[in-house]
Amino acid sequence: MGKGQGRNGGAVPAGKLPGLLRVHPGEHVRLRDGDAGRRFGWTEEEAGPELVRMKARLGELQYKLYADGRFGLLVVLQALDGGGKDSTIRHVCSAFNPQGCTVTAFKAPSAEELKHDYLWRVHQRVPGRGEVGIFNRSHYEDVLVVRVDSLVPKNIWQRRYDEINAFEQQLVHADIGVVKIFLHISRDEQKRNFQQRLDDPRKHWKFDPTDLKKREQWPQYQRAFEDVFRRCSTRDAPWYVVPADHKWVRDLVVARILLDALEALPLKWPKPKYNPGKIRLE
Ligand code: AMP
Ligand code: MG
Repeated sequence: MGKGQGRNGGAVPAGKLPGLLRVHPGEHVRLRDGDAGRRFGWTEEEAGPELVRMKARLGELQYKLYADGRFGLLVVLQALDGGGKDSTIRHVCSAFNPQGCTVTAFKAPSAEELKHDYLWRVHQRVPGRGEVGIFNRSHYEDVLVVRVDSLVPKNIWQRRYDEINAFEQQLVHADIGVVKIFLHISRDEQKRNFQQRLDDPRKHWKFDPTDLKKREQWPQYQRAFEDVFRRCSTRDAPWYVVPADHKWVRDLVVARILLDALEALPLKWPKPKYNPGKIRLE
């Protein structure tokens, strides 16, 4: 990852942000609290209209993806509790027509799911060609919470990095693009978000007292995420570490990453099986 600020203190162009934040294969990212507040020289006033423009373009490209029907896109969203996954889906992914877009939130596995291999429930929710699929948490929980809480022995979660890479590679071979986004917040930001949940009766349902245990495990989670980035950011299925203390920066960057992912697909309008010029409507 490069430096945040553009030359002469100018803003980093939106088009350059994904490249700055993409994790190179094998790169050892160090998650430092300060990085979560980066703004890349942007102001909220400038970012607002840019997000509106990008969302319009995202909608157009998703329409073409749907019409084309040869490619799909899987977007994996991960973060610590209070990291803004739900809010990102509301702000950015609302650019997509619900027809052709699915969102799946992965919770602790059910008894039925636990009877199967950990990728079983995940594979079923992978988007098909023509669709965008958004994962709110994902198979990465199986090397995050599962590792930190020792839910399976080390030798089992250790081999999952390679299994996950093979799984995602296989999706890419099937023309399903894979983009993975980590919303990076600082400990202070998590505290603010938790406090809001406690203060606002409409948000009480979002607070889970067990999240406090995970907050105590902050260093273990940082390490587990750093290993995910080092081992599972591949050329075809990259991880992006997105500064998310400022929601407007987060939304701008996520929108730009999704735009890049859709623009990378060689989408075409399907050729009609009839000659439109020859059809005369009475
Ligand atoms: P939330 O996203 O806040 O609704 O919380 C969902 C909870 O499910 C989180 O505490 C996750 O850590 C947990 N979870 C998701 N996937 C798994 C998994 N594979 N194993 C154990 N816990 C999981
Ligand atoms: Mg939660």
